[in-house]
Amino acid sequence: HATLTGKVAFVQGGSRGIGAAIVKRLAREGATLAFTYVSSPDKAQAVVAAVEAAGGRALAIQADSSDAVALKQAISIAAETFGRLDILVNNAGVLALGSVEEFKLEDLDRTLDVNVRSVFVASQEAVRFMQEGGRIISIGSTNADRMPFAGGAAYAMSKSAIVGLTKGLARDLGPRGITVNNVQPGPVDTDMNPASGEFAETLKGLMALPRYGKDEEIASFVAYLAGPEAGYITGASLSIDGGFSA
Ligand code: NDP
Repeated sequence: HATLTGKVAFVQGGSRGIGAAIVKRLAREGATLAFTYVSSPDKAQAVVAAVEAAGGRALAIQADSSDAVALKQAISIAAETFGRLDILVNNAGVLALGSVEEFKLEDLDRTLDVNVRSVFVASQEAVRFMQEGGRIISIGSTNADRMPFAGGAAYAMSKSAIVGLTKGLARDLGPRGITVNNVQPGPVDTDMNPASGEFAETLKGLMALPRYGKDEEIASFVAYLAGPEAGYITGASLSIDGGFSA
């Protein structure tokens, strides 16, 4: 049975990969969706069409997560269009790799703006609308716990920041009955990290389960955390990583 009937969810970065799978899964659980995209309008519209074909409702909004004004506006449009906001999923993320000797300051800023600052900004805006039972779920990374190759310092830092941010937000919002959690995937087959990519064999060698995860597997975990059965989980960073960090 559907666990999110009557709920409204907002997903940062829902046009491709893990975010698109989350949008479709939450819609299947009965939620009404708004999600953002930046550079993939056609893919965003395809996600809307897939949700509608399955009998759901979704709204795609172009908003760059590094632009605090645009991001807040997208969240308030969603809350006003659908009359409420129950679930925020902070999925938008970028991966810039490079050794510290060569890493560009603009890549560092972009990494922190999209992967970290947007989580704070979106949470701040979303809780203006959330009631008791609200959910904030961020997509961090197993690289917060384990960064077993060179060139990932900025990315690992950005995902580690989500661990602390999740704990602090959980303390702020606990009295309001809003939970805040961080889902830390291992390698998942997407455009960001294709299972056919040059790093794939190395990554599989580092895992307890030597395979890539599927975006649906991450979406299923997010749907559980968004649902009523997960109401006692908060402030947690939860790995779904095939044993990458084991
Ligand atoms: P993809 O690159 O495949 O997709 C990224 C999605 O986020 C797209 O929908 C993209 O939209 C959107 N997006 C990117 N930048 C922005 C932005 N500035 N503002 C709004 N939306 C944005 O990534 P994945 O699906 O692989 O990753 C999703 C999340 O999961 C990220 O936070 C990533 O760090 C994390 N993760 C991924 C892992 C993996 O192995 N794939 C492992 C661990 C964590 P558009 O195309 O429209 O620009």
